[in-house]
Amino acid sequence: MALQRTFSIIKPDATKRNLTGKIVAKFEEAGLRVVASKRIHLSKAQAGEFYAVHAERPFYDELCEFMASAPIVAQVLEGEDAIAKNREVMGATNPADAAPGTIRAEFAESVGENSVHGSDAPETAAVEIAYFFSGLELVG
Ligand code: GDP
Repeated sequence: MALQRTFSIIKPDATKRNLTGKIVAKFEEAGLRVVASKRIHLSKAQAGEFYAVHAERPFYDELCEFMASAPIVAQVLEGEDAIAKNREVMGATNPADAAPGTIRAEFAESVGENSVHGSDAPETAAVEIAYFFSGLELVG
């Protein structure tokens, strides 16, 4: 597997509880390198645009409110098989189902407030990275 990049968000529930460093450490311990990072506070409209794929889901409004409720840390992670590796380190969407040692098992508060986002495929990774970062901001 070649070197790959994926997009990651440390969500508001985690930034509020000062867990940014602990979560970044999990990525780094798994062999993922942070090649871009910024702390920003999304508006509800920006959160809605980012999560447009979920617009028809019953939790969409709650998700957008949550993502705009406090700062996030948007990141690009690089490594071998980075998309799958990141999702492995994140754990299942619902922390009750997340494997021990994963970020969501250790830190997530609920299925909605689950501490991290990670791209699910190369196509979405490319779109999500471009939504938050310019090429100049990706420093391998
Ligand atoms: P992910 O790829 O593991 O983040 O999961 P999904 O793509 O299925 O969902 C995107 C995000 O929507 C999740 O990370 C949660 O923050 C949120 N979400 C998913 N299911 C629910 C739910 O049942 N209720 C609420 N409030 N939020 C949810």
